[in-house]
Parts: sequence; C-alpha cells; structure tokens
Amino acid sequence: MKEAVLYQKLERSNVQCNLCAHRCVIHPEKSGICKVRENINGELYTKVYGRAIARHIDPVEKKPLYHFYPGTKAYSFATPGCNFHCRFCQNWEISQVSSESILEMGQKITPEQIVANAKYSGCKSIAHTYTEPTIFFEYSFDVAIIAHNEGLKNIYVSNGYMTYEMLEMIGPYLDAINVDLKAFRDETYRRIIGGRLQPVLDNLRKIKQKGIWLEVTSLIIPGMNDDPEEIRDMANFVAKELGEDVPWHISRFSPAWKMENVPATPLKTLHFAEAAGFEAGLRYVYVGNVASNKEATRCPACGQVLINRMGFEILKNKIYNGRCPNCGTQISGVGLG
Ligand code: SF4
Repeated sequence: MKEAVLYQKLERSNVQCNLCAHRCVIHPEKSGICKVRENINGELYTKVYGRAIARHIDPVEKKPLYHFYPGTKAYSFATPGCNFHCRFCQNWEISQVSSESILEMGQKITPEQIVANAKYSGCKSIAHTYTEPTIFFEYSFDVAIIAHNEGLKNIYVSNGYMTYEMLEMIGPYLDAINVDLKAFRDETYRRIIGGRLQPVLDNLRKIKQKGIWLEVTSLIIPGMNDDPEEIRDMANFVAKELGEDVPWHISRFSPAWKMENVPATPLKTLHFAEAAGFEAGLRYVYVGNVASNKEATRCPACGQVLINRMGFEILKNKIYNGRCPNCGTQISGVGLG
C-alpha cells in the first residue's frame, strides 16, 4: 500500500479524500466510496498502487478517440475499483469490487514496467482506462510522468468526476481525454450512476480550457437518457460550452449488469441523437457500437470522407497536414496526418 496524495487529516483520526468530487470523509479503518482508499491510523492509503487488473494493447479508436493520432496503438491498463456505481457498467467485474478483495486482485507491475511494455509494443500512447483512472491516481500519475519522459502520450478515459486539484496535477502530463457524459439530469447521476452532474460539467469546461484534447462519449440508454429534450441538452452543452470542434461519440447500449432487462438502444434513437448533434452545430458526431458507416470522419466543409473506419480499424486516412485535401479545411485534432 502507498500513502495517498490529495487528502487532509481531520479531528479524531478522520481524513478527507480530495481526489474526486465525492470528497469522502473516511473514519479510521474504513474505505471511501471507491473502496480503494483506506484510512489507516489517521493516514490515507491507496490499495491499488502497482496492481494492474487489466492490460491490453488497443487501437486508440477503441477509447474512443478518433481525432488523436488515428491508427496508432494505446497500451491500456487499469486497477480494480471505481468511484461510480453505474447500474449499466460493462466492466463491473473489475470496477465494482469489495474493499476486502482488492488486495487479492490484479498483477503487480511497476510504472516503469508499464512504460517499458508500451514502448516495446510500439504504442504511441498509454491509456489509463477500463475502470476510472481517478481512483488509481497515484499509480497513474507516476506512469504518466515516466511515459512523457520516454516520449509517449497519455490518454485518460474518464467519468470526469475528479477534483480540480487532481486535474491541476495531471494536466501537464495529459495529452488527450475521453469523458463520459452519461446523462444530462442530476437525478439520473444520483440514482443510477452514484454521483452528481455538475462536477462533470465543470470538469469538462476546465479540461477544454486547459487545452487537453477532448472527446465526449454519451451512451444512450432506453428509459434513462433517451428523452429527445435530454439528448438535445447534451448536444447543445457539448457544442456551446465546449466547442463545435469537440467530437461527440453516441454509443449504443447493450444490456449489462443490473440493467440486463433494458433493451439495446433502437437505431432510430441513435440517428435522432446524431441529427441533434449536427443541429447543435457539432462538426464531428459518431455513432458507435453499431455496424454502420457513421464512424467515418468527414470534412465539415465539403463533406468528403477523410478517415474511413471499419470498426476500430482505419481503412484510409486522407488528411494531409491536418487539412482536408479537397478543400483545405483544417480538421480538429492532434497528429491526424
Ligand atoms: S477517490 Fe473519491 S470515492 Fe475514492 S475515497 Fe477519494 S473521494 Fe472517496
């Protein structure tokens, strides 16, 4: 175990964790909501430092990031635990764990080994993903620093529920992030997800202000966030508050965990969301988790297909010097070609 960062000591050996917006006050010998941070004799410790539960080499498109070094590989890793309890979680076996089981889970691997493996496998970046990188921040932070020193990029795939203090620390080392905007109703965040909407919106704005490359994903779930007004609210927020150049990924829900009885998202709902995104002014809207031609990157000016994708594979990338070769329009993103 390693002593945590971003916490303060309180009276009677209590501590307050300031890593995510829950800001848990944790009594001695107890853990926070994420289960991975424990108060031991008035000091806060992380139980997941150096304890990877998943490691894979993924296409960066799988994160999903479509405008960040397309066609490259991302060395992806995670530890157990999460600060949310989404009833629809696809990774619940590794995210929803008991505090007792954590020390039995995963494989010990140092930050140096993670970076060395990423370099050896020819990855462009390291993706801190699968569960929530916020809750394994100490580990993630060390990996991120070493990765930058070795010329690799860092990617977060996050629920956006970190504190401003954490964003300040990781900001200089973070090159790209995909944040889930899971709903646009605070009640849904509280009842189904286990958080609040406002901190996520605030963090999205801050991430954008910091100049970190940002893409947003919204999983559309029947009966949860598929009301046309809510979909329009999400699209308008991304377009007006974050910028029309921020790619918005609309993702199809498949029944999972405590929402196994909820049907998959109908295609017409996904198409409605796609249209709402373009109506809001967004230039890049993608529909994921379906076999379709909705995952190509088109020039927002002349409509030409610039990046053709089959699932996560790039079939063709015509972007030249960051511009459309047909009309010369600048295409938003980093390392596009
Ligand atoms: S990371 Fe968040 S959920 Fe975990 S202990 Fe800290 S404040 Fe609580």
